[in-house]
Amino acid sequence: MNISFEGKVALVTGAGSGIGEAIALDLAGAGAQVVVADLKEEVAQGVVERIAARGGKAVAAGGDVSDPDVVARLVETAVALGGLHLLVNNAGIGGPSAPTGEYPLEGWQQVIGVNLNAVFYGLRFGIPAMLASGGGAIVNMASILGSVGFAGSPAYVAAKHAVVGLTKNAAQEYATQGIRVNAVGPAFIDTPLLSHFDEATRNWLIAKHPAGRLGRAEEVSALTLFLLSDRASFITGSYHLVDGGYTAL
Ligand code: NAD
Repeated sequence: MNISFEGKVALVTGAGSGIGEAIALDLAGAGAQVVVADLKEEVAQGVVERIAARGGKAVAAGGDVSDPDVVARLVETAVALGGLHLLVNNAGIGGPSAPTGEYPLEGWQQVIGVNLNAVFYGLRFGIPAMLASGGGAIVNMASILGSVGFAGSPAYVAAKHAVVGLTKNAAQEYATQGIRVNAVGPAFIDTPLLSHFDEATRNWLIAKHPAGRLGRAEEVSALTLFLLSDRASFITGSYHLVDGGYTAL
């Protein structure tokens, strides 16, 4: 299946690493001009250079997406390149691990800030820009933890469930105005987000996937690009798993 994003401008948050990096590389490979956004501009710049080395077009942008002014500026960066047609609200953090009754308050605020508030800011500022650009498609990066719990991660689980709900709401509101909004739910994907797990925890996680392994960032990117493409023209407001069978157990 050939998917082309020639002539489109994309904004991908958290694109300096892992899943966001894979999505930025694939979007640029399919012809989009990509705003590679990450906390640190130099990290984003590294991805821009990889894209340029493959003949693609991208610009780097730094800033903390839990700050609405930063997200507004990222959207403006995309608009300055010719509009906003594709938006992937992907930046996310794992946060502290503790049961709900002991969860650090500051950790709760941080996780909700990056994993939920930033997705709202992306929609809040991205949708008007997308309407002005003639429409487009949005993917919000949720998780399998947008539909099931995971002991010790109350903030992450709450944020990802909320991202699924927010996705459905925005999709309903803009379905007749040329904007589709979907959520993607990866299981455990082998990215730097999991680097703090020891070998035993990693093996325990692998065993939760009937596929017998962790996922790869490119496997999440493949689904994301399909949902962003016109091939998915009747798909909106839904939550799509890429989980090696995790939720089938
Ligand atoms: P990652 O740590 O490899 O990449 C996340 C990127 O987001 C990093 O480059 C980081 O600098 C950036 N980021 C973090 N906080 C930010 C902030 N406040 N402002 C701007 N950028 C920020 O992680 P990943 O595994 O690629 O995760 C990407 C998304 O996929 C996240 O939303 C995560 O919750 C989700 N996800 C990951 C997995 C997994 O197992 N890896 C599973 C399900 C969902």
